[in-house]
Amino acid sequence: MRFVLLGAPGSGKGTQAQLLAEDIGVPSISTGEMLREAVAARTPLGVKVDSIMASGQLVDDETIAAVVRERLSQADVRRGFILDGYPRTAGQAEALAEILTENGWELDAVIYLEVPESELVVRALARQRADDREEVIRQRIQVYREQTEPLIAYYDARDLLRPVDGHRSIEQVARALRQALEVAR
Ligand code: ADP
Repeated sequence: MRFVLLGAPGSGKGTQAQLLAEDIGVPSISTGEMLREAVAARTPLGVKVDSIMASGQLVDDETIAAVVRERLSQADVRRGFILDGYPRTAGQAEALAEILTENGWELDAVIYLEVPESELVVRALARQRADDREEVIRQRIQVYREQTEPLIAYYDARDLLRPVDGHRSIEQVARALRQALEVAR
């Protein structure tokens, strides 16, 4: 069971990834969370990405591929995983395809959480994270439109895309997501 959760900042990916992870018993892997931990611990990686994250830009593909490759080499992902916030660019999708091939793995589905932009800003502002000031949120949404949205077509062309309406309660979205995965299996 190997899934990707795709969606704009504030679409609820993190929340749904965690619920789903508990549900199916595989780890949810959030690149944003790993980077925030690195920043908090002031590791070399954290020092490098701190200002990039604070400005709402993306960390470069190579750096993030190294983080993901290392994480996916750990024993707990052998039964599967849910990727939350990765890939986010065409280059990252290619890097992920390589990592999967190296391990003899394939993705089962890419869940796409659809939420209108007006709702994204409301949600992010309610969250109070360090990079959640309104201009940074708008910057992150813009970066998403330019760099991440093309992945919808990329995964649709590979017949992996499962769109889920994310503009509903957490429970309703979780249920729709499970249904989408039943169909995928
Ligand atoms: P959100 O889903 O609200 O954008 P995340 O926690 O996923 O929040 O990411 C926060 C920040 O971490 C991003 O704005 C970006 O700077 C960095 N980041 C996370 N994942 C990636 C990634 N796959 N590639 C590049 N940068 C990333």
